[in-house]
Amino acid sequence: MKINVKKTIIIFLILFAVIIAIDVIFLQNNYYEGTFFKMDTNITIRGEGENMDLAARDILTAIDEIEAEMSANNIESKLYKLNNISKENELFSDDFIYLLNLSEEIKKNSGGAFNIALKPVIDLWGFGGNYPKVPKDNEIKATLQEVQNTIIEVDANNVSTNGKLDLGGIAKGFAGDKAREILNIYSPSYAILDFGGNIITYGSKPDGTEFKIGIDNGEGNIFATVSVKECNVITSGGYQRYFEKNGVKYHHIIDSTTGYPAENELISVTVLSDSGALADALSTACYVLGLEKGMELINKYEVESVFLTKDKKVYTTPGINIEISDPEYTLQ
Ligand code: AMP
Ligand code: MG
Repeated sequence: MKINVKKTIIIFLILFAVIIAIDVIFLQNNYYEGTFFKMDTNITIRGEGENMDLAARDILTAIDEIEAEMSANNIESKLYKLNNISKENELFSDDFIYLLNLSEEIKKNSGGAFNIALKPVIDLWGFGGNYPKVPKDNEIKATLQEVQNTIIEVDANNVSTNGKLDLGGIAKGFAGDKAREILNIYSPSYAILDFGGNIITYGSKPDGTEFKIGIDNGEGNIFATVSVKECNVITSGGYQRYFEKNGVKYHHIIDSTTGYPAENELISVTVLSDSGALADALSTACYVLGLEKGMELINKYEVESVFLTKDKKVYTTPGINIEISDPEYTLQ
């Protein structure tokens, strides 16, 4: 039998091309992307894997469960009930107790800058509702006194308080941790979740390179990217949520010593950690503390961070892999 070499090679090439094409179609079929409105923000779930759609479904359910328990603004949540109705012996999940304990630890280590009992002051400003306003100075001072007198009692999973609690500075990060647990079950090849600017990376990219996460300069433009493997990249900044009155911007992160929006040299603080809850609480605390004290707090933990100042200087921890893409910004 005579073998036509040319013909055989062509047949092999065609077969090879068909196999590649099937692969591409197969991978495309396993690609999932969805955007939703949850936790008062837009969240995007993207990833590739056989059961990525199921993972996304479970992540959304987990977020709903977190909100049903921990949202201080949802009038049907357990925390709302504790804050406004029962005040004592409200039974919470282990997750909630974990976040209370972590919040208290960060409060202690930040000298009170991170304080979940600031809810009455946050309410005065109207953040979390539809009618933000600038409160009177004497109202702020009186309410701050209330906050300082807040006692939180935890007995096993029962919580009591004479004040009002708000996990807004830590719960979204924790939702990322829950999402990671779910991704671990379904094992997609990779996933990138964006929970209102909190980025959660899972697995590894098809081309084997690290995930590159952009950091906003506070005006909607990326000034730098950090390269990470599996990580939570969480940013706090006044530009993320604010209202404007008489030409002045009032943002949502409160300085626990003044009761006013935190004002210092910072535009934003980004924290990178295996723990989303920790990164979230630290980024909020550091934004309140400012550059110097914020860095001191960061150095107490095994996390990486990026501090962006108003004069376009970028301060980081040594272990970070950062690339500044906008030449107006300088790495210190
Ligand atoms: P983040 O966006 O994570 O920095 O958190 C900001 C949210 O945390 C606000 O919208 C409030 O719900 C809450 N918050 C504001 N100021 C503080 C503070 N000093 N300590 C703890 N939580 C705060
Ligand atoms: Mg936070």
